[in-house]
Amino acid sequence: MSTTPYRIRKVGVIGAGVMGAAIAAHLANVGIPSLLLDIVPPDAKDRSIVARTGLEKALKARPAAFYTKRGAQLVTVGNIEDDLQALAEVDWVIEAVVERLDIKHSLYERLEKVLAPHTIISSNTSGLPAHQLIEGRGPEFRRNFLITHFFNPVRYMPLLELVPTPDTDPTLLPFMRDFGTEVLGKGVVLCKDTPNFIANRVGVYGFLSTIHRALAEGYSVGEVDTILGPSMGRPKSAVFRTADLSGLDTLAHVADNLYQNAPEDPWRETFKLPEIIRQMVAKGQLGEKSGQGFYKRVKQPGGGSEILELDLKTLEYGPKQKVRLASIGAARNYDDPAQRVLAMLNGDDKGGQLARETTADSLIYAATLAAEIADSVVAVDEAMRWGFNFDFGSFEVWDLLLKNPQVLEKTLEGRELPELVQRVREKGQGTFYVETNGVRQYFDFKDDTYKPVPVPAGSITFTALKASNKVVRDNGSAALIDLGDGVACLEFHTKMNSIDEGIIEMIRYAVEEGPKQFRALVVANDAPDFSAGANLFLVLMGARQGEWDMINSAINGLQQANQMLKYSSIPVVAAPTGRALGGGCEIIMHCNHTRALAESYIGLVEVGVGVVPAGGGCKELLLRHGADLERQKAGKTGGPFTPSRKAFETIAMATVSTSAVEAQELRFLRKTDRLSVNRAVLLRDAKADALQLAEAQAAGKWQPAQPQLMILPGSGARLVLEQQVDNLLLTGKVSEHDAVVARHLARVLTGGNCSPLTPLTEQQVLDLEREAFLSLCGMEKTQERMQAILMTGKPLRN
Ligand code: NAD
Repeated sequence: MSTTPYRIRKVGVIGAGVMGAAIAAHLANVGIPSLLLDIVPPDAKDRSIVARTGLEKALKARPAAFYTKRGAQLVTVGNIEDDLQALAEVDWVIEAVVERLDIKHSLYERLEKVLAPHTIISSNTSGLPAHQLIEGRGPEFRRNFLITHFFNPVRYMPLLELVPTPDTDPTLLPFMRDFGTEVLGKGVVLCKDTPNFIANRVGVYGFLSTIHRALAEGYSVGEVDTILGPSMGRPKSAVFRTADLSGLDTLAHVADNLYQNAPEDPWRETFKLPEIIRQMVAKGQLGEKSGQGFYKRVKQPGGGSEILELDLKTLEYGPKQKVRLASIGAARNYDDPAQRVLAMLNGDDKGGQLARETTADSLIYAATLAAEIADSVVAVDEAMRWGFNFDFGSFEVWDLLLKNPQVLEKTLEGRELPELVQRVREKGQGTFYVETNGVRQYFDFKDDTYKPVPVPAGSITFTALKASNKVVRDNGSAALIDLGDGVACLEFHTKMNSIDEGIIEMIRYAVEEGPKQFRALVVANDAPDFSAGANLFLVLMGARQGEWDMINSAINGLQQANQMLKYSSIPVVAAPTGRALGGGCEIIMHCNHTRALAESYIGLVEVGVGVVPAGGGCKELLLRHGADLERQKAGKTGGPFTPSRKAFETIAMATVSTSAVEAQELRFLRKTDRLSVNRAVLLRDAKADALQLAEAQAAGKWQPAQPQLMILPGSGARLVLEQQVDNLLLTGKVSEHDAVVARHLARVLTGGNCSPLTPLTEQQVLDLEREAFLSLCGMEKTQERMQAILMTGKPLRN
């Protein structure tokens, strides 16, 4: 491997607008300090007011830009008049100023004079050509320059497009690809220096071709977004709402840029902005940021708000119409997004018609342009999935159609197959992707052969593990899988990974039998969410039928399985991602170590369904706050009441972390637990942690956990917590049943009738959890809460 002179420890971000401030926030998320600079407004008293305001907006952003508010301490604000010289100290300068070539040029001219020899310089431009950006710059600047195109919102959109120029240092591109993947957690796509790169080229074509068709054929805003949303494997915001979210001025910018810079594009006319959008921009109807675009939110007299939609003919706002179409009804019958797309494309109504027309437009465009704008079909597909949250990239949809010839014919309606698609049929195996031994391969249009889809170094996939017979045991709900090197993975695969008997059985099996073959265990799975918690349906059915023994034994089963994880003879590492709620959170808390995806939303949410955590969650949170005898004796935790009070605050509010860093603050995760930012490498990293612990065990530096005794404050403290609940009830902040649940919680967390002088065993606290859980399950209002979650997915505050 060639050595590179580059490294990144501190960054300068210039431009503190929507993107710059969010980029600084994301750098802070991964622990990198930055200097955020913007212009000095005329006569400003605070010369850094623009950057400061940008940072404040990022702090208030929803969804949150920072993992935790504390991250803002890593961002220093300044201005480009007084602080430019400070950039001599940074390793990377990201330019995110307004999309104007002249402004970017004059900034680069000034930067060139102050930057150190190996400072990386990148632009976040949405589409200005890289070769134009470096015009007038010297060799050093050119060597250190490339485009790093982040997507909005920066923290959540995985895509990072990298665009080098012929002068870019050959070691810089791989360095930035690895940095983007491993440190920033992005899905990195290498692009050619063509107008608007990949995602915005193919994506904006798709948006505009749809808007032109909607206008010509008389579809309404709501119809388009309903037809082309989740039914077509896309986010709910689909077309018009997405345009509102990105800003119609931005859309106009990108479209105009394409029209001007891509004169050879066979569909260039599509980039001519519809007159209606031009008028909306002129009137300041820019979408979300100006309060109105294709949609408008209006306040209602009695509080609350209503969303109106723009009538594309009259340009007046009116109530949102319910869109009912047979094609959408048919698509919604399927959980599998591929089946939904096929059902939609097969529809015989106007929904099916628009889905077919716009799909054909986009797919033909992508297949015609792919070789010009990208190195592979994979780059196009990843750009579409990671940049727009589509379920499928263009060539993955092509494959769906190629495997369903009747739908293909119906969709193309006589339009010719692009040359690339003909080639994959004649010279390839008929589809752009094939799977060989669990390894996904793509059709390489450079030489018409199939090659493995590149993945981040060392990443492990469940598909490959399953295809190569690594499954040691599978009981339908969970599996034990051999990860190699003496590490096994305990994997769940129930719906939403809710915890059922099968999962509990597999935990027992893994802990009892695993050590015979393996030296460490990882608890991880392949789904977006680690676990939605216990299977409420079974609990509710049991409660309705008065099956108390059954519920008692199920809860006891979960408690004992969790205790087995905690006291396992070999190290157990949890690898949560997405939501880990209720029982899911309890499983994590009982593992010896956690390697969490940074985007992990962890919490004990049981009170929302009218019960208390009863899989050991109360006990573990108390211990995390210092309720163990050892720390109580050492007097380090503020006395026996402090852990109870802190755990009560978190559990009674059903607090869910908005990131893994916040989960550490809430103590669902330990300070020593580690984070990964990229989902694609989470299992690899969890396995590495497990191996490290196994090696520590072999060297006598890690030992299985020892049972802990606990000190809890007893009934006096319970009365204090109950008093707080009564106050909240009196002031109408909580409902009667909230108060009932909270009182049960207070009893568990203070140790029932225990004495603060007599230590409790963990089992005694588990018994209190189970007792409270069972009494609450017997209450009508708890059962109503459970039913509401199961039926509507939304909590009921009865
Ligand atoms: P913005 O208008 O929100 O912010 C631009 C900032 O640049 C403003 O704060 C402005 O004061 C500052 N600025 C202007 N001239 C400057 C100068 N000479 N020196 C320092 N600061 C200066 O714009 P944005 O949406 O954050 O876009 C910034 C860049 O990112 C543009 O190149 C844009 O094309 C690109 N981009 C935007 C998006 C998006 O969705 N908004 C997505 C990807 C890329």
